[in-house]
Amino acid sequence: RPANGGEAIDNLAMWRGLNAPNRQVHQKRVLVTGGAGFIGSHLVDRLMEDGHDVIVVDSLFTGKKENLARWRMHPRFEFFRHDVTEPFNAEIDQIYHLACPASPVHYKYNAIKTIKTNVLGTINMLGLAKRTGARFLLASTSEVYGDPEVHPQVEEYWGNVNPIGVRSCYDEGKRVSETLSFDYNRQHGVEIRVVRIFNTYGPRMVLNDGRVVSNFVGQAIRGEPLTIYGDGMQTRSFCYVADLVDGLVRMMNQDTHVGPFNMGNPGEFTMKELAEIVKKLVSPQLDIKYLPPTPDDPMKRKPDITKAKTHLKWEPKVALREGLKPMVEDFRKRILGDTSAQEL
Ligand code: NAD
Ligand code: UDP
Repeated sequence: RPANGGEAIDNLAMWRGLNAPNRQVHQKRVLVTGGAGFIGSHLVDRLMEDGHDVIVVDSLFTGKKENLARWRMHPRFEFFRHDVTEPFNAEIDQIYHLACPASPVHYKYNAIKTIKTNVLGTINMLGLAKRTGARFLLASTSEVYGDPEVHPQVEEYWGNVNPIGVRSCYDEGKRVSETLSFDYNRQHGVEIRVVRIFNTYGPRMVLNDGRVVSNFVGQAIRGEPLTIYGDGMQTRSFCYVADLVDGLVRMMNQDTHVGPFNMGNPGEFTMKELAEIVKKLVSPQLDIKYLPPTPDDPMKRKPDITKAKTHLKWEPKVALREGLKPMVEDFRKRILGDTSAQEL
């Protein structure tokens, strides 16, 4: 190492703006794509509360500025209405790449756009990571396992995905995003972290996104029957959003593992059981209406989170019955305009 090696490194850090005079050592410049969405906005809250500089890039396809309203005037916060299928430039230290419609109604609405978001958007953000030396975290999904033949799903399982079905734009799109992340890592040395997120719920979920938790809670608050697709015996595992955000931050800020790591709550519920829990919480008199099953609907889903538990010391803490309470409050406020509900 040359005698002035330390100085050279300092100069490089200065040039990249890492040691800017007005920046604390622990303070990072963090880009969150999809930061106006459900999970993204909770992640932004956490990063802002931790004292980082946060840049949000979001097309507002499903996200909303209101989700970020509390940070609008904050000097450490910036918002860019921008589509990730177009290149974006900034000097940053970390990228959380969440931009992508997540619920079936939204990702099927314009399937080709969903694939473009996953392919071109991920290439653009990996290119940015390559240029700036930023660490890149991909929000992948349990959908990469498709309709799984292995239960619970472990990261080694390669999945059972229909490449030409109506969900493929999302499932295959995320699989390509993972491939791209690993190729940028192998070929260009980009520091990557890949997390496979399982069904997540909480306040700020899009009201009409068609997901089962938002449907049931919305229907219950409106006094409508809860709609179960198929016989209701299919299972899912539901993770409270604050637990997930904690996992994402832990994954990003450790230096050893690239993933992929599953993140979700291993508690497994049938849709019938979920309907009963929501009824009990909101109104026990509600009816249940059975509708035809949706195509390509996985019958079982439950994460094996041994890796995240072992390597990140992460596991969800919030039980479904507890996590549903703030969500019901938030939905009540948004559906009924009930301002007596707590500010979130
Ligand atoms: P969301 O729809 O609330 O958020 C997605 C955000 O991305 C929105 O704000 C949307 O406007 C933005 N976006 C979409 N396309 C974009 C584009 N081309 N350019 C810029 N912004 C764009 O969904 P979410 O539930 O918060 O999901 C966030 C991420 O987590 C997604 O990548 C999703 O695939 C992943 N994920 C979510 C779940 C879940 O249960 N919510 C499960 C697995 C994976
Ligand atoms: N589902 C349901 N009623 C609804 C919405 C969804 O029974 O009103 C079912 C759906 O068929 C699936 C499960 O709930 O079996 C989870 O659906 P969601 O869209 O929330 O998530 P994903 O299928 O992506 O896991």
